[in-house]
Amino acid sequence: MLTDKIAVVTGASRGIGREIAVTLASKGAVVIVNYNGSAARAEEVVKEIEEAGGKAEAVQCNVSEFAKSAELMDYVVKKYGRVDILVNNAGITRDHLLMKMSEEDFDAVIDTNLKGAFNCIKNISRQMLKQKSGRIINISSVSGVMGNAGQVNYSASKAGVIGMTKAVAREMATRGITCNAVAPGFIVTEMTDVLSDTIKENITNQIPMRRFGQTKDVANLVAFLASEEAGYITGQVVGVDGGMAM
Ligand code: NAP
Repeated sequence: MLTDKIAVVTGASRGIGREIAVTLASKGAVVIVNYNGSAARAEEVVKEIEEAGGKAEAVQCNVSEFAKSAELMDYVVKKYGRVDILVNNAGITRDHLLMKMSEEDFDAVIDTNLKGAFNCIKNISRQMLKQKSGRIINISSVSGVMGNAGQVNYSASKAGVIGMTKAVAREMATRGITCNAVAPGFIVTEMTDVLSDTIKENITNQIPMRRFGQTKDVANLVAFLASEEAGYITGQVVGVDGGMAM
């Protein structure tokens, strides 16, 4: 159980982040449902959590902006006194083959997926060190482990998240703070809904289980990594991918 733990989930208005927020709340955590543009959908997540008897609050923040991320963390610490769990889930894609990928496509994906995670970790690290406890879980991707054609920017950002996870884990290991990465394979969300049927079929053929995963598959692992039971696990990259990256 995560009774009364304070959890910040970035990009929790939809998809995997939404499921993580609902799952952590169902285990007793008070969840900060972060979003960037989807205010109404973030409020829906809060409503769903509250109707199930849990506690949550939606807070807008573009995590790619360092100062805004600092404001988010300051707000949470001021209001709730601590942050026990940080899930860096906010992420975007701007897929193109290298020949057609613009500098803007590259920068936007790095800024959100990699720098966004850095910003949030950096801006809560002092508080977690003070607490002498914390769980940081970064959502990477199978694309960061294997590389993926059409995703030079995204693969770089998600591989970067893995390196950052290991470095943070090493720095924080003696301070009661764990830092792990979760590397989902292809999960049914709006991010993968946009893929054409042909691409979906090609991908499915590369998955030993021959199917996409569900958001719950990722959320269950995140909830475990956030728990007391996972206290001796740090610096790991755990796949949730139907066997794709074995
Ligand atoms: P999604 O359905 O597109 O949702 C993305 C979420 O990120 C939304 O809540 C969005 O909020 C938020 N977000 C985007 N930019 C943000 C920013 N600058 N600041 C704060 N929030 C921001 O994506 P998903 O499929 O659930 O993916 C979630 C995470 O899992 C991402 O990191 C993704 O790379 C990773 N992942 C996904 C898959 C997959 O197959 N779906 C596989 C591997 C890894 P707004 O709506 O408010 O903008």
